Amino acid sequence: MADRYDVAVIGTGPAGVSAAITAKVRNKSVLLLGSAAISEKVSKAHNIQNYPGLPDIPGAELAEKFREHLDQMGIEITDRKAVMIYAMGDFYSLQIDQDFVEATSVILATGVSFGKPLPGEDENLGRGVSYCATCDAALYRGREAVVVGYAPKEENDVRFLAELADKVTYIPVYKKEQMPAEVTELFPEFTNIEVKIAKPEAVEKREGRMVLITDQGEVISDGIFLLRESVAPDKLVPGLEMDGSHVKVDRKMASNLPGLFAAGDITGTPYQYIKAAGEGNVAALSAVAYIDNLK
Ligand SMILES: Cc1cc2nc3c(=O)[nH]c(=O)nc-3n(C[C@H](O)[C@H](O)[C@H](O)COP(=O)(O)OP(=O)(O)OC[C@H]3O[C@@H](n4cnc5c(N)ncnc54)[C@H](O)[C@@H]3O)c2cc1C
Repeated sequence: MADRYDVAVIGTGPAGVSAAITAKVRNKSVLLLGSAAISEKVSKAHNIQNYPGLPDIPGAELAEKFREHLDQMGIEITDRKAVMIYAMGDFYSLQIDQDFVEATSVILATGVSFGKPLPGEDENLGRGVSYCATCDAALYRGREAVVVGYAPKEENDVRFLAELADKVTYIPVYKKEQMPAEVTELFPEFTNIEVKIAKPEAVEKREGRMVLITDQGEVISDGIFLLRESVAPDKLVPGLEMDGSHVKVDRKMASNLPGLFAAGDITGTPYQYIKAAGEGNVAALSAVAYIDNLK
């Protein structure tokens, strides 16, 4: 990865893909972070009827077209998650797992963040609650951790954590169709992972230990990892102004932080592909103008 990109685009839905394409057309160096398989909200959609020029297209096909377009433009997807984004003055520092990269401008296109934080989650974030297993696993060497995984891909982080921790309790909260028939088959190679089916309800700190309260009782450990597909934008970017659960933007898709733009579902309804793609385009043009103005 380069030392400093002109534009970092976070998210590979229509907003992020469109933003990355426009920034590249305008000759900027682009870091595109997100799922290499394109947003699940595109790839898993049954049949899309309102994307101009592509009537009745299955989501998987639209995702393939997005990938082909990025390939043709020489834009690579970096299939990793942004964990934190810090405003540093005239640039942004992005934490990607344990690595840091810099970008002059950032376009947030992480989609709408479903699911409210658990009671007690915000207060204990960074103090027993973590969103990033690869970042914080080293703190759990010889200790006990609980992982709540919201998608099957989080199982890799559970294995990574179990190589260091004494014990990991894994609570998969996937959609029904993503669940394996036998949860005990999830990690046959690990004797220190216990899989528990439960619904997390709250987080508490009690006598220095972390308590995950579920509908099946309490799970006590040294730390709780909540691995969601996306986190609330103002947790990802400290200081970001929100309008309810959406990022507050103006018509240029500019946020309150200079050089940081947002596009797509993250800025509000209607939740639609073409609205997301259009906003991605506007955000990229605004980012280009911002960068050129700095010179
Ligand atoms: C089942 C279904 C069917 C739909 N059908 C239609 C339809 O027919 N027509 C229509 O117009 N709209 C439809 N929609 C709505 C549409 O899916 C959304 O409006 C659109 O996907 C929003 O695009 P986006 O780019 O803003 O976000 P998303 O598509 O949600 O993409 C967000 C991306 O950001 C990534 N991301 C999140 N956090 C991070 C992070 N920290 N680091 C890196 N990457 C991150 C995610 O993995 C994802 O790839 C449908 C939605 C669903 C769920």
